[in-house]
Amino acid sequence: MLNLTMCIVDCGNVITGITYFLKVQLKTLNQTRKPAKPAYSVRCDKCKQETLPKLDNNTLLCPCCNNKHTNISKPFEILIKAAIAKGNQDL
Ligand SMILES: [Zn+2]
Repeated sequence: MLNLTMCIVDCGNVITGITYFLKVQLKTLNQTRKPAKPAYSVRCDKCKQETLPKLDNNTLLCPCCNNKHTNISKPFEILIKAAIAKGNQDL
């Protein structure tokens, strides 16, 4: 029982090192994946591109082919419009 505890304590440093390495690895993976897909991306029925829609006359359009998005639920549409408005303010 005592030896087992000692072993865990002794190996503790090694395990912590690996965990830290894995954490960095996962963090790097997350960071490289995130920019590929915007938070409020919508898949276009016409050109199959998944991007953040653009706002034109209070209508959400696909920025790639200007196809009007008709398959967005009302609550999500409000969120997207808010995100676009926020993005425009940052620019
Ligand atoms: Zn499109």
